[in-house]
Amino acid sequence: MHGASNPRVFLVNPSDSAFGTAVITPRWLYVLAAATPAEFGDPILIDETLERSAPDAFGPGDIVGIGIHTANALRGYALGKLARSRGAHVVFGGIHATLYPEEAHRLGSATAVVKGDGDLVWAQVLRACRDGAPQPVYAGGHVEPDEFRPARWDLVPRKRYMWASVQTVRGCPKHCSFCSVWRTDGQRPRQRASDAVVEEIVQLRRLGFRFIALADDNFYPVTLTDLKLAERQGNAARLRELQSIRAERFELMARLAKLPSDMVFFTQITMEAAEDDEFLDAMHAAHIKGALVGVESVTRAGLKDVYKDFNSAGDELIARLQNFRRHSVFVLGSFIFGLPSDDPDTFTATAAAAQQAQVALAQFVMITPFPGTVDFDRWEKMLGADCPTIAGVPITRRWLIPPHLRPKLYWPHPHMSPEEIRSRTQGVWDTFYRLPAIWQRSSFIHSWRGRFLFTLISKIYRQMYADTGIATDSARVSWSARWARLLGKACRPLFAGRPMPDLEVPLYEGQGSGGALADLPAQ
Ligand code: SF4
Repeated sequence: MHGASNPRVFLVNPSDSAFGTAVITPRWLYVLAAATPAEFGDPILIDETLERSAPDAFGPGDIVGIGIHTANALRGYALGKLARSRGAHVVFGGIHATLYPEEAHRLGSATAVVKGDGDLVWAQVLRACRDGAPQPVYAGGHVEPDEFRPARWDLVPRKRYMWASVQTVRGCPKHCSFCSVWRTDGQRPRQRASDAVVEEIVQLRRLGFRFIALADDNFYPVTLTDLKLAERQGNAARLRELQSIRAERFELMARLAKLPSDMVFFTQITMEAAEDDEFLDAMHAAHIKGALVGVESVTRAGLKDVYKDFNSAGDELIARLQNFRRHSVFVLGSFIFGLPSDDPDTFTATAAAAQQAQVALAQFVMITPFPGTVDFDRWEKMLGADCPTIAGVPITRRWLIPPHLRPKLYWPHPHMSPEEIRSRTQGVWDTFYRLPAIWQRSSFIHSWRGRFLFTLISKIYRQMYADTGIATDSARVSWSARWARLLGKACRPLFAGRPMPDLEVPLYEGQGSGGALADLPAQ
């Protein structure tokens, strides 16, 4: 029910391209929907990766929440200006608004900006807008895990997404130079209790979602090395803290293992998990079938370039990646090109390593300094007052450059031109995603249906990312977008599961029996 004196609340996920169907649910929409007090009624959710919002969607007095990251900031600002011109209050949040609140005011006509987590502060912002007294900036800070809002999955248009997303931990103890997570979400892992996570997952399975992304910064926050170090230092308090985080991970995985066997989880993890056989076994039992692993570089010098010395290179790298596969956890390897130590041979060596390590999927990105990272700060400082401009915009504010004028590479390389790096990167994508190579990689799947699905996923992934992300040829980009849209539509039903409205929440050993799960038919 919508309160008579309360304004309508919109939550908008901006996007320049709409595919009709989307791969993953934008979790923040459903979390902020849960954080919206009942007196405002159900918020209206608009995900522009599905379809564009109507120009007359917003009206006087409405409150429009827009979540932005760097890639969709410009579209977000256009929406902000539109909504404000129609008399609505406009509130920006998300990582980009957290880093550049003044930009959201100046270019997006913000009434208010929320920095940090919105889980708790959102209710306060809504009431202040309604009462006509919003502050320009709200500090949401880092919310403690027991205060994370579970998402309002009752509002999701189930048939339009392939994967749902659930968060189990925020923050990452590492400090990679190209990543903003440890600086924005903090280095202390904020881990949700297994009850909260499992309840959300069961709710999703009841609705028919069986593919779920565990949208975590790092699913493996405590490594065996961390434990050994605390032990060696005789730091009993630290050791206890680490052991308890690790024990909670195992508790969560033990409960996920009791879910129907057709569930598929995917997460993001550091390569160090490869040395932890017990953890990998638990992941496999928990239906965590795949993980994005930041390999970044196949050379020791490249790893040094990005402050990721804890990764392996050479033969040790191949062995570690293969260990994931031995435990039936399939890897989406992420590789970066354009590092200062890269040369033309790096591209061939990387393509060969990805193939040899038997990673199921791979992404090859060109190094880009992202706001909020150490790399970005160094780059901005290096350019100083001489920063080049495009269409009057300094390249250190590249997200404000009209998309068709944006360069593909920003980081200067000691001996390769941007075009050389771009075309060699495209070449590695093309080699890795050749149909025969994909089919060969799919051999770990035993059913024809599964292999077909894997091939389609590989093709969609490549079309959505490689061509639209790094190609310079506009015909290729629009052909790819059309192709991805068609494939996405065709594939979505393959991801749907049979709704299980009676599914019960599995308990942890010691909490009692697994309830109705024991009676579920095999999938
Ligand atoms: S790249 Fe991964 S491991 Fe490195 S800081 Fe970011 S989340 Fe952590």
